[in-house]
Amino acid sequence: MSIYDTKGRIFNIQRFSIHDGPGIRTIVFFKGCYMRCAWCCNPESQSYDIQTMIENGKKKTVGYDVTVSEIMPELLADENFYRRSGGGITLSGGEFLAQHEFARDLLIACKENGLHTAVESTANAPYEKIQEVLPYIDLFLMDIKHMDSQKHARFTGVGNDIILQNAKRIANSGTELIIRTPVVPGVNDTAQEIREIAKFAASLPGVEQLHLLPYHRLGQDKYSGLNREYSLSGIEPPEKEKMEYLLSVAEESGIKCQIGG
Ligand code: SF4
Repeated sequence: MSIYDTKGRIFNIQRFSIHDGPGIRTIVFFKGCYMRCAWCCNPESQSYDIQTMIENGKKKTVGYDVTVSEIMPELLADENFYRRSGGGITLSGGEFLAQHEFARDLLIACKENGLHTAVESTANAPYEKIQEVLPYIDLFLMDIKHMDSQKHARFTGVGNDIILQNAKRIANSGTELIIRTPVVPGVNDTAQEIREIAKFAASLPGVEQLHLLPYHRLGQDKYSGLNREYSLSGIEPPEKEKMEYLLSVAEESGIKCQIGG
C-alpha cells in the first residue's frame, strides 16, 4: 500500500492562516485528542467520532475521512503563496499524534512535494509515535500548559509527566522546537507559574522561543452547539497590561518571548 492510500479523520482544512507557524499556511485539523482542556477553542476536535454540532442554528457534521492522495491537491493549491511567504502546511487538531500513521504519511507526502511542515501538539503520546513523525517535521510548536502535574491534570484531564519528558526528547532530536503557553486566568497566569514554564523552556537544548498565547473565548459557542457546558464561562481574557507583565517575567529566563504565536 502506498503512503498516499493512508486514511485519516479530519474536521477542517483552513487556508491562508498566518498564526500557526511561519508565512502563509494551510492548516489541517485532525479529529481526536487525548486531552480535555477546559479552555479548548476546538471542542469539536476532541472526540474521534464524527459528530453533529449546531452552528448558527444549523446542523453541521463535524469530521470526515480522507486519504493522503485526496487531501494533497488542496494542500498544494497555495504552493506559490507558501514559497513567497516562507509558509507551508501545519497539522493541528485535536492532537495529530492520536492518528500518527496518517500524520506520518501526510507529512512524507508534503516533504515529497517540497513543502515546509509544522505541527501544533502537546506531545502527550508515547515517544515511539513521535519518533515516527519527527523526521518529516520542520517545526514543532509544542504546548506547555503548566509545570505542576496535579494542576495540569485538573484543567486538562491528564498529568504532564510524559509531556515534559517528550519536550526534552524532541529538543534533543534537533527538530526546531518552539514552546507555546496558553495563558488562562486562574489556571496558569501567576508570575510564578509563567516563570516556571519559561525556566523549563529555556533549559531545553536549542529552544529559542516561548510564545505566550492569551486565553480567548472564540470557541465558547461551539460548546452549546455540542450540547456541552463551557466550564470557564465566568473567566475574562487577560488584559494587555497583565500579558505584558507576564512577558517581562518570562523574559527573565533569558529565552526570547513574545505575546501571540
Ligand atoms: S490539547 Fe488542544 S485540542 Fe486537545 S483539548 Fe487541549 S486545547 Fe483542545
